[in-house]
Amino acid sequence: MVSKLFDETEIARRVEELAREIAVAVAGDFAIVGLLTGSFVFVADLIRVLDRAGLAPRIEFMKLSSYGHGKESSGAPRLIGGAPEDVAGRRFLLVDDIVDTGRTLDYAKSLLAGKGAARVWTCALVDKPSRRKIDFAADFVGFTVDDVFIVGYGIDYAENYRHLPYIGIID
Ligand code: 5GP
Ligand code: MG
Repeated sequence: MVSKLFDETEIARRVEELAREIAVAVAGDFAIVGLLTGSFVFVADLIRVLDRAGLAPRIEFMKLSSYGHGKESSGAPRLIGGAPEDVAGRRFLLVDDIVDTGRTLDYAKSLLAGKGAARVWTCALVDKPSRRKIDFAADFVGFTVDDVFIVGYGIDYAENYRHLPYIGIID
């Protein structure tokens, strides 16, 4: 059963605010790198608000190893597809659905930094600080939640629920 946590209106309002924050902090030329698959709806909404704020980021995606079909992370993330080309000297905003242990965004950030990115900011729609396993803080966070497993708005459980327009807790 899925119980609603953030409805469509709350998400739209928060994404709007977040995009305005990003527009101020990351002004200028940059590329968004969304982490597949969970961030695809968030990225799609975010870029349209960024456009209204006058920003024109390039949009790319990369895929890291994921949760598989369970609710627990499989440990060390690794790249399984779509690393951006021509990273050196460019500025990036990494976007993921959730920061949980922190390992995924931290790994993605060091990957881009290791290829010579000029600057890498990180953004997650949902943060679960109580689950952190490493010292990591995203630069932009939409919502903070406790230790709950969420779905919807692009976020899945065993590939289901991505279509939900809201974010809910599954039990
Ligand atoms: P981290 O590497 O920070 O532990 O995990 C981040 C990744 O774990 C996210 O990209 C997301 O795919 C997945 N994840 C973390 N918490 C949840 C959750 O509550 N629901 C779902 N579906 N995935 C989660
Ligand atoms: Mg993910």
